[in-house]
Amino acid sequence: MNETMTSYIEGRSCAGCTMCCKLLSIEVLNKPRQRWCTHCDIGVGCKIYDERPEECRTFTCGYLADVGIGEHWKPAVSKMVVSLATNAKRIVVYVDSDRPDAWRKEPYYTDLRNWSKAAAQNRGELLVSQGRDMFVITPEGETNLGQVGDDQVIIALRKSGSGGSEFDHVVLDLDDPIFEKMKLLKDPDAAKAASPEELSEARREVDAWWAQQEKQG
Ligand code: SF4
Ligand code: SF4
Repeated sequence: MNETMTSYIEGRSCAGCTMCCKLLSIEVLNKPRQRWCTHCDIGVGCKIYDERPEECRTFTCGYLADVGIGEHWKPAVSKMVVSLATNAKRIVVYVDSDRPDAWRKEPYYTDLRNWSKAAAQNRGELLVSQGRDMFVITPEGETNLGQVGDDQVIIALRKSGSGGSEFDHVVLDLDDPIFEKMKLLKDPDAAKAASPEELSEARREVDAWWAQQEKQG
């Protein structure tokens, strides 16, 4: 998403790419995953670069940012974009729907298995977004969570009694009231604007939801 060719890891830049402008959703533009943004000059850059949304300004893919990600992951070549969550607990690999099996080819699949081991040791997880389907990759194998929409979010529930690397997953709509409460508790600005009663009510409801999920698990 960077057409000024700023380099990040030495020798890497967005030059000739723009894959994230297809593979990722941009909420404020109402742009779904796997569809080229109408503002994209494919393989060149953003036609509204100076006015591009905050979501685009703040995104840096793993290829640019993580020295542990090999050159073969260059998105324009691999047709995959690695997204690293800011807390580094969740890695999501978005796969171009024109090359849906790209992640199963070598050397990518071996990399993914190795990353899943590192993620598990960090109490994190690795997801692969292939078309509308979302897969969880673990050191033991993979699980298809099924179709996850751009208006949904995956909540990871650590399995009780496990070593910390095993999760169950629940898919929630972004406007699900319980997810709204989770956001309220996580967002310092929203929490500051809420009353103490609203916060304690949200905490109570979220705790009850987690307890219910654990019981069902
Ligand atoms: S996928 Fe990465 S390298 Fe390609 S344009 Fe986006 S941020 Fe730049
Ligand atoms: S607004 Fe620009 S940077 Fe953002 S997705 Fe569209 S083309 Fe890419």
